Amino acid sequence: MIGTAVGYQVTLPVGYTDANGTVHREATLRKMTGKEEALMADPRLRKNGGRLMTMLLANCVTALGTLPKVDPDVMARLYSADRNYLLMELRRATFGDELEASYTCPHCGRSTEVAEDLATVPVKRLAGNDGAVEIAVQLEDGFAYEGAVHRTLLLTLPTGLDEEKVAASQSDNPSRAKNALLARCIRALGSLDRSDIDALGTHILMELTLGDRRRIDKAVEGAAPGVDLIRDVTCDSCGRGFKAALDMSHFFPVA
Ligand SMILES: [Zn+2]
Repeated sequence: MIGTAVGYQVTLPVGYTDANGTVHREATLRKMTGKEEALMADPRLRKNGGRLMTMLLANCVTALGTLPKVDPDVMARLYSADRNYLLMELRRATFGDELEASYTCPHCGRSTEVAEDLATVPVKRLAGNDGAVEIAVQLEDGFAYEGAVHRTLLLTLPTGLDEEKVAASQSDNPSRAKNALLARCIRALGSLDRSDIDALGTHILMELTLGDRRRIDKAVEGAAPGVDLIRDVTCDSCGRGFKAALDMSHFFPVA
């Protein structure tokens, strides 16, 4: 992140592909103001975290590549990896790099406070500039449908639009929400027709074995660009080490 007279310059991990196929990766941010505080306090937006993020970013991203304008539609179409990255940079620009984080130890259940430095959080950017993410996973058990077993899975990554849709329908069940999000990311599965994939939806994820589910998680984690929020924490109480995710919901002090 580089501060200049017009704002803060950042490079998106993936980038936004416009209707002509041009990829836009250089974004300019401004600091958050009272307008965004009002957005965060809006009860309707607070019910849909994906939509809230879209509106925050649409306000504070003042330029993206050579796009004539940045609006909620563009911000919703960004990959979640880019949105999460922008949110972290927005936090840094507005409140600085230091973040007080609290982690609960899985061994003893006590919490450890850590002063995180957001300037040191690793960001993985796509090497190429084609703006597309495709992840191939070879399933072992596969998905059985009408006498055939389908094992070759092709996934893309979720966008803001996917998050908004899922948050609106599945906000009360994290496991169902994860399935719904993943189902929206399936590009191909074996020789299944697109119409079958759309009709089966989350049913596919529910039927996969836990071993295959783990293969998918690993493939996505390994390939996914963006901010790496997994931290190595040492427990203040029992001294044991554990891995925990930096909680993005605490990036901003919400009234
Ligand atoms: Zn502990």
